[in-house]
Amino acid sequence: MSVMHWTNVNNESPSKFNRQSSETLPPIRKRIQKRTEKSLKETTFKSLYKQNKLAEIVKKAQENNEEIYEEYDEIKIQGSILKINDNVIIKNGDHNVEDYVGTIQKICSVLEPQTNKLICMCQVQWFMKKSEILIHKPRARCWIGTQEIFSTKKNDFILAQTIIQKCKIVDCDEFVNLENSDLTTYYNRLEWDVENKKFTNMNEIQLYCLCQQPWNPELNYIQCDKCQKWYHFECVNLIEGCYDDKEYNCGYCN
Ligand SMILES: [Zn+2]
Ligand SMILES: [Zn+2]
Repeated sequence: MSVMHWTNVNNESPSKFNRQSSETLPPIRKRIQKRTEKSLKETTFKSLYKQNKLAEIVKKAQENNEEIYEEYDEIKIQGSILKINDNVIIKNGDHNVEDYVGTIQKICSVLEPQTNKLICMCQVQWFMKKSEILIHKPRARCWIGTQEIFSTKKNDFILAQTIIQKCKIVDCDEFVNLENSDLTTYYNRLEWDVENKKFTNMNEIQLYCLCQQPWNPELNYIQCDKCQKWYHFECVNLIEGCYDDKEYNCGYCN
């Protein structure tokens, strides 16, 4: 009965519907549908962007439409070319905190639908800085140097424009022997487990002095002429500068 009724309505007013519906109506309906889809997609990208959920933008772009997602081998930022595996200094949004350090793992872009705005991003593997470690290990203040950073397994997507410049990461021995190092040269010897808040490979590095701490390149040490071991002046009750040329034997060798 209801089907009949519906047919009747159409038949009763052919002039109203027939002429337009065959040509004009369907395309309009299609266009409206398309626009709704697009604006939905745009809102999602926009709101994700505002919330700084870059990893989700990448995921969505990869899933929804491969044409809007692209990966690159290198990117030009502030006039210099950055490549995958380059170490970089990254701007911290909060101006009171130090900048971050990371290694570029992936360079990619997402073309925001409709606005055609290109969001350039890098996936970076993070290093932790001294200040971040000291929150959990305050006693490490004695041996962590200002230029020491700690590798982690944690990575994130960042906006490419937040990269400040390339930086250099060397091992501790190389850092000690560097003739001129600046604030863009860091050293790394330990890995930090972000979840469990501890060093993962402390047992692999050599410890020094009576206090059994990792080497601090910013402190001076005195070496025992017999056992060749190194000690902090303070830990063996010596005053720095008084033992420059004199032979020194540690408490064990004396
Ligand atoms: Zn010591
Ligand atoms: Zn000794």
